[in-house]
Amino acid sequence: MPELPQPAIDPAGLRPATLAVRGGQYRSAFQETSEALYLTQGYVYDRAADAEAAFAEEIERYTYSRYANPTVTTFEERLALIEGAEDCCSTASGMSAVFTTLASLVSSGSRIVAARELFGSSLVVLDDILGRWGVRTDYVRGTDLDQWARALTTPADVVLLESPSNPMQDVLDLPEIARLAHAAGAVVVVDNVFATPVLQRPLELGADVVVYSATKHIDGQGRVMGGAVLGSRDLVRGPLQQMVRNTGPTLAPFNAWVLTKGLETMALRVRAQSAAALDLATWLEEQPGVASVRYPFLASHPQHALARAQMSGGGTVVTMTLERSGGDDEHEKDRAFAFLDALRVIDISNNLGDAKSLVTHPATTTHRRVDPAVRAELGITATTVRLSVGLEDVEDLREDLDAALAVLRGDDRPRAAAKMNP
Ligand SMILES: *Cc1c(COP(=O)(O)O)cnc(C)c1O
Repeated sequence: MPELPQPAIDPAGLRPATLAVRGGQYRSAFQETSEALYLTQGYVYDRAADAEAAFAEEIERYTYSRYANPTVTTFEERLALIEGAEDCCSTASGMSAVFTTLASLVSSGSRIVAARELFGSSLVVLDDILGRWGVRTDYVRGTDLDQWARALTTPADVVLLESPSNPMQDVLDLPEIARLAHAAGAVVVVDNVFATPVLQRPLELGADVVVYSATKHIDGQGRVMGGAVLGSRDLVRGPLQQMVRNTGPTLAPFNAWVLTKGLETMALRVRAQSAAALDLATWLEEQPGVASVRYPFLASHPQHALARAQMSGGGTVVTMTLERSGGDDEHEKDRAFAFLDALRVIDISNNLGDAKSLVTHPATTTHRRVDPAVRAELGITATTVRLSVGLEDVEDLREDLDAALAVLRGDDRPRAAAKMNP
C-alpha cells in the first residue's frame, strides 16, 4: 500500500501571505515546483483487500473524485489556512456552497433568520426551495439590530447574512448579530464574498461558518466557477461532507487547480482593487451627475465606523446612484443604460471581483426578481449602478467614468479629458 504524500511544508506559525502560495501543497515523487493537476475521476488499488480497507475506512486514501481529489484537497487546505478555519469543503459554485451549508444545518420544521439584503439566488433557496421542505425563514433588515434582537427572542437554527451586502453595501454588525444568534441557539453563516478572505475575517468576529463564491475574487480572472464552506472540523467533515459527497456538487479538479493558483495572487489583487475602488468612490462623490456613492470606507457611509472596525479595506465594489433628471422610472432607467453603454474600458456584466472592471444595473439584472417594495426599501433604484473595480490603471477607469458621465450631462467633453487636453 503506497503512502500518501506529506505536505510540502508544515504550515505552523506561517502567515497568510506565505500560506497563500505554499499551503496545502503535496509534491509528487517528481518534485514539481507548481501544484500538480490530478485530472482523474478514480484511483486504483494494488490488491482487492486495499479497496476493501479503503471502503471500510480502515485506511485513508483517495477512492473516487466525487469524494475527494488531491488537487481539490490542495485548494481546500490552502483556503482554510488563509481563512484561519479548522477545515474547508469546496463546492462547484458559490450557490452550491450556500445551499449545501443550509441543507446540512436544517431539517423540516427548522427556522432560519436571514438578513433581507441577500444574493438573489440565496433568496430563492430560502423561500422557494427550503420553504417547500418545511423550513421557515424570517427576514430582518440587516442593519437594524432591534429587528435582529426581536427575531432572535425565538429560537432559530441558522442565521444567514452578507456583509457588505450586494449591491447597496450595507455593513452588518457581525459580533453583535453573532451574540444574539448564539443566544437563540443558531449557527451563524456569513456569505463573505464582497469582503473576501483578505479584507474581513468573519470567524474572528463571531461567525461559525463562512461561505464563498470562489467564482469571484478567489479566481478573480473570470475563468471558472467554484465555491467553498469554512468552519469547524465537526461541521465540515460531518454533515457538510456527507451532503457534498452524496449529492455531488463537487468542485472539478481543473477548477480547483485554477482557484488554487488564484489564491496565490488574491491578496495582491484584492488590495490593489480595493485601493482603486476607494480612490474612484472618493472621486465619484464629487462628480456632477452622481447623486450618491455607497462604499464602506467613505466617511459618508452610514456604517462607516463599523466597516473600519470589521474590515481592513472597503472592498472592490463601488455602488453609485446617478442623479435623476425628473422623468419617470422608465426614463431614468434609459439614462442609466446610456451611462453604461457609454463606457469604453469598463464592461457591462453581472459578475464582480474580476481583474476587468465590470458595471451592472442591478434593478434590471441581478435584483430584477426582488419584490419592488423590498428593492425600494434597500435603496436599489432605476439609477443605481454597481461598479466592480478591476486591475486596470485607475486613471483609465476615471477617464472612462468621466466620459460616460459627460454623455449623461450632455457636455461636449468629459472633464478629465478636458483637463488633460486644454
Ligand atoms: C456570486 C455570489 C454568489 C453565488 O456564487 P456563484 O459562484 O455564482 O454560484 C453568492 N453570494 C454572493 C454574495 C455572490 O456575489
